[in-house]
Amino acid sequence: MTSAKSDKLSDSHRGDMLNLTSLLLATAAFLSAADNDAVLARVAAHADRFGVVSREIWETPELGFHENKSSPLLQQELRANGFQVVAGVAGMPTAFTATFGNGKPVIALMGEFDALPGLSQKDVPMLAPAQAGAPGHGCGHNLLGSASALAAVAIKEEMQAKGLKGTLRYYGTPAEEGGGGKIYMLHAGLFRDVDAVLAWHPGDSNRVNMSSLLANNGGRFRFYGVASHAAAAPDRGRSALDGVMIFLNSVEYLREHVPQETRIHYIITNGGSAPNIVPAFAEANLVARNPDAAVLAGIWERVMDCARAGALASGTRMEFEQGTNYSNVLPNDALTEVLGRAMQKAGGYEYTPGEKTFATELQKTLGGPVRSPGPEKVRTDMSEGTGSASSDSGDVSWVVPTAQFTAATFVPGVSAHTWQAAACAGTSIGRKGMVVAARTLAVAGVELFENPSKVKAAHDAFEKRLDGRKWSTRIAPDSKPPMDYATK
Ligand SMILES: [Zn+2]
Repeated sequence: MTSAKSDKLSDSHRGDMLNLTSLLLATAAFLSAADNDAVLARVAAHADRFGVVSREIWETPELGFHENKSSPLLQQELRANGFQVVAGVAGMPTAFTATFGNGKPVIALMGEFDALPGLSQKDVPMLAPAQAGAPGHGCGHNLLGSASALAAVAIKEEMQAKGLKGTLRYYGTPAEEGGGGKIYMLHAGLFRDVDAVLAWHPGDSNRVNMSSLLANNGGRFRFYGVASHAAAAPDRGRSALDGVMIFLNSVEYLREHVPQETRIHYIITNGGSAPNIVPAFAEANLVARNPDAAVLAGIWERVMDCARAGALASGTRMEFEQGTNYSNVLPNDALTEVLGRAMQKAGGYEYTPGEKTFATELQKTLGGPVRSPGPEKVRTDMSEGTGSASSDSGDVSWVVPTAQFTAATFVPGVSAHTWQAAACAGTSIGRKGMVVAARTLAVAGVELFENPSKVKAAHDAFEKRLDGRKWSTRIAPDSKPPMDYATK
């Protein structure tokens, strides 16, 4: 259903540098690309609408598990286009599945829509929060969820037109930025019948390859000491902050003696209440990452030893609360090949003069070498490597054949989780990248429905990469989703 409200952008964003007019121009460029592939025409026919949807989600950034407007908006669009929506799955109010068709094969697309804390930003090439301290779409998930939904609608129409058999399913997965909605959906068995997952992520290039993502693990380390007057009776106090400091200093020494590609980062979320009181409570939030989940498990034991050392040395007590735990991505050779060909067919895009100006201005804020202001050309190959982020789509890739790619929603040089990325995600540049993603997903999806041998190849490639290993996670199967993860 198309609501009148969602058809227009809020007044507060009128007059911003890149508005809906340039979105329409962008879509026209795709339409005039004169391809006669039916599914690409179907993407083009719905691109404006989902561009508006992506912008609306961008204007109302919501934190993980609290996507109370973004998730229903995507549900509504899919329902209006003939999908059967089941909302509130796996114990998460904003998680949903949207299904069309029945029987085999079952091909799935992934949609994320959560924002990041503190990255509120207008669609301008200088730091300008829309609302100071508020969340923002610094990872472009407003585009992620919308592109996959756009592709789903196009594939569904193509299935109907060609009488293609099988099930097409869109997974609305909350809290990718922490909390890991997909893991609870996996535990609930919602991916059990799926043959292949096609996924994508916003980035600064149009790129298909076999790149993986880092496994990560993290959580909160709480130290409990004894409060006392910091000057009059320090001998009677036991400082929880000392515990945190010794813990984190130990981690700094540990950093030298772990594999080079490891990442460890932390914040102190509570360091006491006043310097003249020996802190009875202190807390650190730490995340560690490595390309290999098994290697990370070993490193994590040593991180835990550092925390125990902090407690022992400071005479405090330490408690650990498990946070996000994502697996590295298991690439899929057969699906990557399908996606690579699909992206070649989808093609890239050009900047308008206004977009070029925006890109140049934005790149000036990045520092470092001057980059080309234009979007990168489509690059597809079978090279392997590890991207420097983590995602719960990694966990899905250990259970179901999965492949993912990036589309150039951000200006070249812009990395995710920045105000620059949040700015791009609200502009026509973001929406052009979104359409590249949808076109790629749509062509690949139709190919899988048309060719059962490709689905079989994806399964074989999956088994080969798995090599007898099984998905494992520290998130217990019966645990409840941490609904306050992003807000506490
Ligand atoms: Zn992301």
